Amino acid sequence: MKDKDIIARLIRPEVRALKAYHVPDATGLVKLDAMENPYSWPEALKAEWLKVLHGVPINRYPDPTAGALRARLKDALGVPAGMELLLGNGSDELIQIILMSVARSGAVVLAPTPTFVMYEMIATFTGMKFVGVPLTPDFALDLPEMLAVMDEFRPAAVFFAYPNNPTGNLFKDSDIEAIVREAPGLVIVDEAYQAFAQQSFMDRLGRYDNLLVMRTMSKQGLAGLRLGALAGDPAWLAELDKLRLPYNINSLTQASVAFALQHRDVLDEQAARLRAERERLFQALSAIPGIQAWPSAANFILFRAGARPANEVFAALRAEGVLIKNLSPAGGVLADCLRVTIGTPAENALFLAALKRAL
Ligand code: PMP
Repeated sequence: MKDKDIIARLIRPEVRALKAYHVPDATGLVKLDAMENPYSWPEALKAEWLKVLHGVPINRYPDPTAGALRARLKDALGVPAGMELLLGNGSDELIQIILMSVARSGAVVLAPTPTFVMYEMIATFTGMKFVGVPLTPDFALDLPEMLAVMDEFRPAAVFFAYPNNPTGNLFKDSDIEAIVREAPGLVIVDEAYQAFAQQSFMDRLGRYDNLLVMRTMSKQGLAGLRLGALAGDPAWLAELDKLRLPYNINSLTQASVAFALQHRDVLDEQAARLRAERERLFQALSAIPGIQAWPSAANFILFRAGARPANEVFAALRAEGVLIKNLSPAGGVLADCLRVTIGTPAENALFLAALKRAL
């Protein structure tokens, strides 16, 4: 480029200061870094699915409101009567839609930290100010501090990942409800890992005017389809819907998720297997001398590898063909922390063996 200054002149400084969301190359590795479900569908089910896809008219635009899929999802997710769903291209897109709708100058997004990084990234994209309130050393909400910060900054939106990523724990219900009651703006309970936590705020939607509950199909084996759902009062969702790009849920995703929901027993059985495998992996990790693992309600486990620095353990595992997530660069309470996604029993065994060699 001849005129390099034009970039500095035009691109907002906060955008230039960002780093693009980095996804490491996992080719040939046992992939335990991104909370994906390791299982695919039985062959007979795949064959049936392909027949459904065969009939999808891809020359036409998708159903703009994904009406049929939404009806099925409302039932599957247990959305209370009178509440609605807004669908996003992954829940990431829903976070973006929510924040675009409230992003006036000086508006604040609040979340306990560490948490899912996209709350802060999208706050920055939309020109908002992100305020993080540190979790206590045992990863609980610091309720007095959250309330004080809320009083000071009057956040337009508060996000809770429930259970939290990357710590894996569920915050105390009563703490979240206290914040919902005091919040001057929206409170979004992000239940991305609900299939593994089996706890939800969905049935409390009718009780609080400012509560929204978010889900995703990503952790239940459909990450590649990109489908998130936001449940809440139709009056909120009607406003947010104005910011949704037309046709954001493509036809193949609409047909595939609707099909998957007809076979929920398969999704539920996979989630149950992963929950059982999570407990096995937690016990196995905790039994290794020097390892500190935190109990998890999600499909991943946060742990510290004891004497050896996390950067070295991470590199040693990758050299052995196992990719997990190194959270150490985030620093703070995450210094020397690693996060492993629950895989198949065979993958978890490979991980454990490689970890033992790495220590
Ligand atoms: N919320 C949380 C708490 C997450 O951890 C993630 C993904 N890691 C997401 C939302 C985004 O999920 P999706 O694939 O639906 O965009």
